[in-house]
This record gives sequence, C-alpha cells and structure tokens, in this order.
Amino acid sequence: MYLYNSATHKKEEFKTHTPGRVEMYTCGPTVYHFAHIGNLRSYIMEDVLEKYLRFAGYDVNRVMNITDVGHLSSDADTGEDKMLKGAKRENKTVMDIAKFYTDAFFDDCRKLNIKTPDVVQPATGCISEYIQIISKLVDTGYAYLAGGNVYFDSSKLERYYIFNDHDEDDLAVGVREGVEEDSNKRNKNDFVLWFTKSKFEDQALKWDSPWGVGYPGWHIECSGISMKYNGEYLDLHCGGVDNAFPHHTNEIAQSESYLGHPWCPHWFHVHHLNDPAGKMSKSKGEFLTVSLLEEKGYDPLAYRWFCLQSHYRKTLVFSWENLDNAAAAYTKLLNRIAALKPEGNVDQAVFGEYREKFLQQVGNDLNTSMAVTAVFDALKAKTNDATKLAVIGEFDRVLSMSLLEKAAALREKAAQAVQSGGGDYVITGEGDPEIDAKVLARYEAKKAKNFAEADRIRDELKAQGIEVTDVKGGAAWKRV
Ligand code: AMP
Ligand code: ZN
Repeated sequence: MYLYNSATHKKEEFKTHTPGRVEMYTCGPTVYHFAHIGNLRSYIMEDVLEKYLRFAGYDVNRVMNITDVGHLSSDADTGEDKMLKGAKRENKTVMDIAKFYTDAFFDDCRKLNIKTPDVVQPATGCISEYIQIISKLVDTGYAYLAGGNVYFDSSKLERYYIFNDHDEDDLAVGVREGVEEDSNKRNKNDFVLWFTKSKFEDQALKWDSPWGVGYPGWHIECSGISMKYNGEYLDLHCGGVDNAFPHHTNEIAQSESYLGHPWCPHWFHVHHLNDPAGKMSKSKGEFLTVSLLEEKGYDPLAYRWFCLQSHYRKTLVFSWENLDNAAAAYTKLLNRIAALKPEGNVDQAVFGEYREKFLQQVGNDLNTSMAVTAVFDALKAKTNDATKLAVIGEFDRVLSMSLLEKAAALREKAAQAVQSGGGDYVITGEGDPEIDAKVLARYEAKKAKNFAEADRIRDELKAQGIEVTDVKGGAAWKRV
C-alpha cells in the first residue's frame, strides 16, 4: 500500500516493523459530549484504513484510548478540563459523563459500521504507566518540575515540529480556546506531563504521584496506552488533522525521549468535515450528530457513503443537499444490487481480477472514491450475477456499507410484496421494493374495480419517472 505520511510529507510505501503485522494506534474521543459527524468522519476513514490493511493480508492490532481525563479546553494545556465542563453542564459526576458518552460513541460507531478496535482503553485506567514514563523523563533530564506541575523540556530535543505542512486554519482548531501563557514553562513548546496545580480547584479525578496528588496531561495518555498495548514500535498512528499539533508532536517528543529510539514512522491524518458556516466543533455545543441524522430520516450509512466518496486528505464540506445526493445514490446502488440474482457459480478468474484491481486502486493512498467506483464497475462487469455479488461482497469487507445484507433484505421485501398480491402476479423491474409495492397496489385497485385509484397510482409512478407496462401474468416497470 502507498500511503501519505504526514511525518515525511510524502506518499510512501507502507512498511511495518514486523512483516505482516501492523501495530496501529488511534486517538480516541474526548467523552464529554456526543461525537459530532466531523469526529466520526475521522473514525470512518480510520476504520476503512484498518479494514483495507486486513483485506491486504496484514494482521492488525488496533488500539484506541478514550480521553476521560486531562484534555483541557485548549490543547495548549490551559483552560478548563473538558470532562469537568461536561459534568457541570449536566450536573453529573465526571465518571457518569464518561460512561454515558463512551456508550453513545460506540452506539454511533455501530450505526456507521465502524468496527471497535482490538483494544479500547480509557485514559484513567493507565495512571501507573504514565507515572513510570514521566519518572524516567524526569530522571533523564527531559522533564522538569515547576509551580507544582511536571513539564516536558522541548529544548532537549534535536527537532520538535514535524507536521508543519498542515493548514494553519486546521492547526488553529486545537489551540484556539483560551490560550494563555503559562509562566512555569521554560520554553514556548514545553507541555505538561503531570498537573498538581490546576487552574481550577474542583478537579474531580486525582491520583497520588511522586510529584503530588494530581492528574496526567492529555498527550501522555496516548504514548502510555500505545506503548502498553502496541509495544515499543508503533507502525501507524492516526487522528484528525487538528491532533497533529501539538498533540502528536508532543506524543513523539515524550515517547522517543523515553524509549531512546524512533517510535512511529507513519502518521495518518484525516482532514476535517466542516459545515458551510465553518468548522464543526464539539466545544461550541451546537453540532450535527448521528442521532440527528436518524431523526431526519437518514440511514447513518448514507453518511458513511458520503464520506467514502471523497478523499481523507481533502476538507469535506457538509450540506444537507450533499447528504441527500449521497443517500439517493446509496439507495439506487442497493436496488441495483438487489436486482442481481444470487444464482450460479462464481467465476474465480473474474473475481480475482476485480479483487486485485481494487487492492491496487484503493491502496493508492486509501482512495475510497475509487472503491466506490469499483462497486459500480462490478455491476457492469461482463460476468454472471453470482460473480458480481461475490465481488461486491468482497469490496464491502473494506467499505462496510452492508451492501449484500441490505440488498438481500430489499429482495426479500420485493418477493413478499409480490406474494401478497396472490403469488401469481409477477412484477419485473429494477428491484426497488417501494416501486414494486406501488405497482402491486395498482394491480389490486384494478382487481377491485377501483379504476380511479389505479390511474392515480399510475400517474404517481409516471411523475416519478416510472413507466409501467401490463404483461402476461403481471407487470413490468422501468425508469424512463
Ligand atoms: P475529540 O473527541 O475532540 O478528542 O476528537 C476526536 C477525533 O475527531 C480526533 O481524532 C479529532 O482530530 C477529530 N476531529 C475533530 N474535529 C473534526 C472535524 N471537524 N472533522 C474531522 N475530524 C475531526
Ligand atoms: Zn492521542
């Protein structure tokens, strides 16, 4: 696979420390509110990446944290703890908030067919690991104590910034709120590893440490959790583009200083989903969620389809019109798949040829729009339906659009609609159960001599661009 690497600013052949095995880490959500559909764009694209790697034959160990402590409202270590902010807003404890929004996050993931990573670790569960790392950083001179907090000393590094090719605007997201200078810092880029003196008194979660009772900084959690479950050599680190700086820069700084060797060679950053008014942000409090899409009648997978149509390294602008287009395209695709007959033998040569092409095309920097095109190409392939279905099912291991399951359900629904008309009335069309049902209703109206109703349905279908022709033993319809 060729994958763009934010660390080198180039598209590179993806290589792993241990051949055939990928140690993959994903920055998880900060669980103080619902995930917005922008956050979920990142998780969808990371899910596709993981599934592509498995499809390509890798054994993947995917680890993700849940940020339930330490993430302050500015990524630059100032402001209020986001979790505390959520707890105050809802008059609940921090742990109640964490549990509620963690569950809500995984509900959203399930609806979007996002697989749960192999390891999911809440940050509060690895305090002793962070203390061990910070202790070594203090002992080796990479960290210092000031004003009650432990800071990483960025001046000890040979290089610090490595993700500086990102949009200024995207980078600004992480640091825009309440940035204040912390006079304890020796250098501008130093960051907190352990807080004992927070800016606010009512910090809910605290642990004992060699530096006093306090809590970890946000960056150390990802290094600690990754080293615990992925080992000392990470192959692939993922996150949204706003995580690149300062979060990922700081993760690299502390991990490599602790380990004494390079840590993670490949960095994958998903660009943002914006709404036409600007950036989507959880802290603003008003944002689009999967539940809201459902309330408006959308299948969450229509949103996944919308995301797959564009490249992860391009900013994506959300609009209802764009989502409508994606939803319509998805429904049409399902109907076309439902119209295939699952009979006959799979032509293995054709199957192999399509699979290989998909592997190559999608393996070019996770080209998901090519993956979408590949499904339409498979529908047009010069082969039997059984082979087309097998190819589409294979592609769906990566796309996770429930293509075969949903198409089978449509087929079933269409068959039921036909049966309820007496069994011997056969409707042939493009496999759209809604249209089938209307055609059947027209037949039943005619049978009951309700010709006005039958004509009304015919006109309604006509207005939808459907032409119905009565044929022997049933009806045939087509889009005109
Ligand atoms: P958070 O819950 O704020 O820690 O963010 C969870 C994930 O969503 C991180 O990987 C962020 O980089 C990513 N993210 C935040 N905002 C957006 C956005 N508008 N579009 C895509 N990803 C985002
Ligand atoms: Zn992280």
